[in-house]
Amino acid sequence: MNSKLETCAADCHPASVPDYTPVPELRQLQLKRLQAVVARAWQNVALFRSRMEECGLAPEDVRSLEDIARLPFTQKSDLRDNYPFGLFASPMKDVVRLHASSGTTGKPIVVAYTKEDVDVWTSVLVRCYASCGLHRGDIIQIAYGYGLFTGGLGAHYGAEGLGAVVVPASGGHADRQIMLMKDFGVTAMCCTPTYFLHLLDRADELGVDMKKLPLRAGVFGAEPWTESMRKHIEERSNIEAFDIFGLSEIIGPGVGCECRRHQGLHIFEDHFYPEIVDPETGAPLPDGTEGELVLTTLSKQAMPMIRYRTHDMTMILPGRCECGRTLRRIGRIGRRSDDMLIIRGVNVFPSQVETALLAIEGALPHYQIVLTRAQGLDQMEVQVEVTPQMFNDKIGALQELHKKLQGSLDRVLGIRVRVSLVETNSIERSEGKAKRVIDRRTS
Ligand SMILES: [Zn+2]
Repeated sequence: MNSKLETCAADCHPASVPDYTPVPELRQLQLKRLQAVVARAWQNVALFRSRMEECGLAPEDVRSLEDIARLPFTQKSDLRDNYPFGLFASPMKDVVRLHASSGTTGKPIVVAYTKEDVDVWTSVLVRCYASCGLHRGDIIQIAYGYGLFTGGLGAHYGAEGLGAVVVPASGGHADRQIMLMKDFGVTAMCCTPTYFLHLLDRADELGVDMKKLPLRAGVFGAEPWTESMRKHIEERSNIEAFDIFGLSEIIGPGVGCECRRHQGLHIFEDHFYPEIVDPETGAPLPDGTEGELVLTTLSKQAMPMIRYRTHDMTMILPGRCECGRTLRRIGRIGRRSDDMLIIRGVNVFPSQVETALLAIEGALPHYQIVLTRAQGLDQMEVQVEVTPQMFNDKIGALQELHKKLQGSLDRVLGIRVRVSLVETNSIERSEGKAKRVIDRRTS
């Protein structure tokens, strides 16, 4: 699909060999590791042991992979309630790294790594990069924040493990990012898709043509994004855009990643066991059915997570990927079970708004949803930036665009929302995850 991306031998990186393990062998390994991680958590984590006892279960009750469904779930609140170190399964002398993610309320959640955990993390990221067609000699710029957030350091160790040249730019400073990309001949960029969009806009303003840079791949994650956004990014920059998935509670970035077929994200199943459950009842759902992703760490030492509820809505894709990997794939995560907005009784997801907007030419992928309440009724306004030419054009063009956007949103959402066209750069830019929803409803 991309002229800048030549076929390469990166898939042959030694670290990606486990991606092709025959399925029966992989299942056997998973069962062995599941039994070990359950025993470890039972031994060392009081919360897990008491929950198992409540269910009348002991570690030896896990005899098959199906038995995982009998184990109790872990929730984000468990991490908060046991702040900071209550869920550690390793003594502090074996822990070599702590990360934390800022919660919206109160204390952050803390995650821990032993040396072995850091090595596993690095190895899965090497496999991510290899599946994106990157290899030794690539120059990878990391524009995720470095620090307590897992994005920066995770992506960094992985890129070094691959043998690539790492440019640890961290987040922010768009002009400097663009200068580095240009002067260093950066071939791959790691950041949130929103931040890459921001860099594209800034490059336009600076008169830098991204299409002419050696940049050929973007490894984008840390927030949900859509196929429409991928198309927009690829057209504007002539790169191949990959979706990478992860969460700090499990390990950080690198739980799963797209391959060059772009048909879902392979989960590195030898380390992370995926299940899909009904978000209401917790009952397991079959492949091909959308539900909430639940993950179990199979090899984590410092802080094993058993059946962690991610709140990410997706499905396990049936069938085998054409790339030959035996790892199961999940569909792209477009939404979270907890980012659902209920507007006048109708369920609305921000990703639906993005899809509706990007279907229409002239709308920029910068948008914001503003919620208000008037006379007890919820009102939703979608503010969307349009190209400067639109504002310079005759008023008729703007009205025409407004009508098209309104129609597209009505169709996709099934409810009437207010559409406001705003000038380029009037919606605040994010250096990390985009803030899509402003909730001004007072209850
Ligand atoms: Zn594949």
